[in-house]
Amino acid sequence: MNTAFAKWFLHPGHESISAYYELMDRVVQLVADQTRRAHTPFTGGSDRQIASKVKRLLAITQEGQQTDKVMEEIEQTVMKDSLWISHPSAMAHLHCPPLVPSIAAEVVINALNQSMDSWDQSPAATYVEEELIKFLAKQIGYTHEAEGVFTSGGTQSNYMGMLLARNWACRRHFSMNVQKEGLPFEAGRLRILCSEHAHFTVQQSAAQLGLGINAVVTVRTDDQKRLCIREARAKVHELRQQGLIPFMIVATAGTTDFGSIDPLIETAQLADDEHLWLHVDAAYGGAMLFSHQYKDLLNGLPLADSVTIDFHKLYYQSISCGAFFVKNKRNFRYIAHYADYLNPQEDGEAGILNLVEKSVQTTKRFDALKLLMTFKLIGTDTFGEMVDYTIQLAKETARLFREDPCFEVINDPEINAVVFRYLPAGSREAAYINDINLELQRSFYRSGELIMAKTKQAGDVYLKFTMLNPLNTIGQMKEHLQKIKRAGKAIEEKKGEMQYGYSLPY
Ligand SMILES: *Cc1c(COP(=O)(O)O)cnc(C)c1O
Repeated sequence: MNTAFAKWFLHPGHESISAYYELMDRVVQLVADQTRRAHTPFTGGSDRQIASKVKRLLAITQEGQQTDKVMEEIEQTVMKDSLWISHPSAMAHLHCPPLVPSIAAEVVINALNQSMDSWDQSPAATYVEEELIKFLAKQIGYTHEAEGVFTSGGTQSNYMGMLLARNWACRRHFSMNVQKEGLPFEAGRLRILCSEHAHFTVQQSAAQLGLGINAVVTVRTDDQKRLCIREARAKVHELRQQGLIPFMIVATAGTTDFGSIDPLIETAQLADDEHLWLHVDAAYGGAMLFSHQYKDLLNGLPLADSVTIDFHKLYYQSISCGAFFVKNKRNFRYIAHYADYLNPQEDGEAGILNLVEKSVQTTKRFDALKLLMTFKLIGTDTFGEMVDYTIQLAKETARLFREDPCFEVINDPEINAVVFRYLPAGSREAAYINDINLELQRSFYRSGELIMAKTKQAGDVYLKFTMLNPLNTIGQMKEHLQKIKRAGKAIEEKKGEMQYGYSLPY
C-alpha cells in the first residue's frame, strides 16, 4: 500500500481509522462551536468583503497544509460568513434548519457513497428509497399503483411532472412517441394552466421542455391567493376555442410567497372533466401530510396524477432532499431508458430494481436515509407537532402585526409564511413606502440580526417571514415587530433630513 495515500481513504488500517476520527472530531467541533457562538443568523459582511476573504482561502498549495491551519481558515471564512440557518431569526426563504438526525445521516450517506442509479451500486439503499417512497405514497393517499423517486428538489420534481405530462399528451393527442421521434410540429399548440402564484419552475420547465414559456397560461387567484377555479375552467374553454390544446394543470399546495393552497378537489374535478394531467406542487405544503391539525388542507392530493414534495423545506432535511410521485407507475415509461452497462432490460425481467428508470438523474445521492433516520428517531407524531406549532405561530404573528397600525399584513397564513410591510407615518406615497421597506430588509441583513425576505405584490415591496423554525416564539416575534418599527422610523427620519438637505439652495 502506498503510505502517502493510505490515510486519505477508508480502510481497516490504523492510519485510516485514526485520520477519520481526527478529521470528523474537528468538523463536529467546528459545528458545535458555531452553534454556541452564533448569536445572530449572519455576521453582516458585505459581498465584497466575503468574496475577498474567500479568494485568500483559495490559496491551494502543492503540498497538503496543516489540519489546524486549514480548520482555522474554514472557521474564520466559511463558518463565520455563512448564513446560520439554524438561528430562529433566519426567516427569509423556504430554507430550513436541518434536524440533527439529518445532519448525522449525511455522514453515513457520504461514507457509504451509494449511487442510486442501479441496484448493484446500492443494494440496501435502493430498497430504503423504494420502501420509503411507498410509505410516503400511502400517506399521500395513493394506492399500490403509485410510485415515486427521490429528486434533488422541487425544481426537478416539477420538471419531471411536466415531462411525463408532455409525453403523455403527445401520445394522446398526436399519437407521437416523443422519446423516439421528438416533438411534433403541433406541440406548439399545447398549453399548461397554473395560478399566477405558481412557482417559476413551471415556466422554466416549459421552456426546457421545448413548449416555451408562452405555453404556460396563468390563472387569477382569489383573495386568499388560491387558484380561481371558475376562471381556470373558462380559460380551458377559451384556449380550445382558439384551437389550442390545454393538457395539464399545475396546482400548488403551499405557494412560495404566501403558503396558499389551491382548491385541490375542485382542481381535480376540472382536470377530470377536461382530461388534463393534474400535477400538484406540494414542495412546501407536503409536510402537512403529518400535521395533526391541518392535514385536511391536503384532501384531494391523491387525485393528482403526479405530486412534488420537498424534504429540504418543511421536513427539515439538509439540502438536497425531495421526491416526485406518480399516481400510476405506468407513466414512468415515458422517461425510461435502458443501457446495457447499467440497467439492461433483462435486469427488469429478472425483477432487479434499477431506480435510474424512474429518474432524470443517473448517479444519484442516497438522500432517503436522512428522512428515514429522522422519522425513526423523532417519530411522526412529534414531527407533526413541529409543523403545527410553526403554523400556529405564523397565524399569531400575522395577528400581532395586523393589530399594529404601523403594519399591513396581506395574507392569512395557511401554512407558515407571513407577508407584510411597514407603513411609514410620513407619507402614503407608494414609492416612498417601497423604498423604506426595501431599506428595512437590507439594513437588517447588513446588521445580521434578522433575516427576512422581500417580495412584490402588485408592484409593491413587501417583507416576508417564512417561519419554518419551531424554536421560534411569539415573544421573539414581538421583539422583531418593535425592532422593525424602530428601524422604520429611523429610516424615515434619515430620509426626511436628506429631503430637507436637497431642497436647500446652495
Ligand atoms: C421551493 C419550491 C420549488 C423549487 O424547489 P427546489 O427544491 O428549490 O428545487 C418549487 N415549488 C415550490 C412551491 C417551492 O416552494
